[in-house]
Amino acid sequence: MTQDLSRTAAGVQFVGVSKTYPTGLTAIAQLDLDIRPGEFLTLLGPSGSGKTTALNLLAGFQSPTTGQILVDGKDIGALPPYKRDIGVVFQHYALFPHMTVRENTGYPLKQRRMPKDEIARRVDDVLRMVALEAYGDRLPRQLSGGQQQRVAVARAIVFRPRLLLMDEPLGALDRKLRESVQLELKRIHRDLGVTIVFVTHDQEEALVMSDRIAIFDQGRIRQIGTASALYDAPVSQFVAQFLGESNCLVGKVDHLPRLSRVTTAAGVFHGVTSDATPQHGTAAVVTRPERCRLFTAQSEVPEGWNQVPARIRDVVYLGALRKVVADLRDGGTFTVIFQPDQILPAAPDVLVAFPPDAARVVLADGPKNH
Ligand code: ADP
Ligand code: MG
Repeated sequence: MTQDLSRTAAGVQFVGVSKTYPTGLTAIAQLDLDIRPGEFLTLLGPSGSGKTTALNLLAGFQSPTTGQILVDGKDIGALPPYKRDIGVVFQHYALFPHMTVRENTGYPLKQRRMPKDEIARRVDDVLRMVALEAYGDRLPRQLSGGQQQRVAVARAIVFRPRLLLMDEPLGALDRKLRESVQLELKRIHRDLGVTIVFVTHDQEEALVMSDRIAIFDQGRIRQIGTASALYDAPVSQFVAQFLGESNCLVGKVDHLPRLSRVTTAAGVFHGVTSDATPQHGTAAVVTRPERCRLFTAQSEVPEGWNQVPARIRDVVYLGALRKVVADLRDGGTFTVIFQPDQILPAAPDVLVAFPPDAARVVLADGPKNH
């Protein structure tokens, strides 16, 4: 039955796409992006970074200032939104309040002048998919927020689009509801095999949902990859800080073959050299809290590890784990995750240490990001 709804998923390419609004603001700058058929791609970034603009360009609600958007290799620039075969679910796209769930869901098919019995059959199918088959005769106001959003999803997939765009569709839902609709959307993605471009500013949501994540900042993609690739090998301080927690030390870089060196006010640190390591100037050493350890004496720190003196400010209990926040002398802070078998030092003055291969030397944030 669900197979019946699926069609070949679409592949999408943004080629040199820019969007400058009449105000002179460039919301998207020279975007190149390859979205694979059938993938669940999430655009993640702070507010104002251009995520909604990117979706609007793809949906056809706005036109690019430069560049082309291709779907399965064909330029869709000249097609109006309704001819693009793209389903959209936006946070603000309300349902029609005077129409039942069934009428709301069937609306795109009615617009396409499909025969009534065919509409009824398709509406039944998608309402079953979003587990709302018992709610067909209700009005939107007789549904919970999560149910309403599932109707919006049903309405977006009922005409069997090959591409589904969702702009913060779960933003208005409380945490518990959001988690259950997230799982629902993942199942729908699996069942339909449709390509999904999903927008969120919530990193946890991005981690749960996505095959790949594109990190947006100021109209550009800073990095794109799987959640684990971005987490383990961020190419910049911005990405490291936007996805997951990280510790960063900024200073002058010496680009060296395997491990590069960064000299800061707090000391000298080493981290893995990669394509993202600046050749000269300023760089950041970034490491994750679970890769750091606390020691009370110099003699305890393993040979070759980076270390910096700090003073424990806070201990936060996270179920089995504990998180320690420590202040550096020069004003920075470090976060360290404690495993249950580690013993927390009694004295507040400690050494935070981490091995060089658990750190990366990457582009530091520019002044604009501060
Ligand atoms: P996001 O969805 O990541 O929050 P948007 O794409 O909505 O970002 O916005 C990107 C930038 O473009 C922001 O600075 C925003 O103020 C600006 N912007 C968005 N829509 C318009 C518009 N219609 N006219 C002028 N500026 C706009
Ligand atoms: Mg937005």
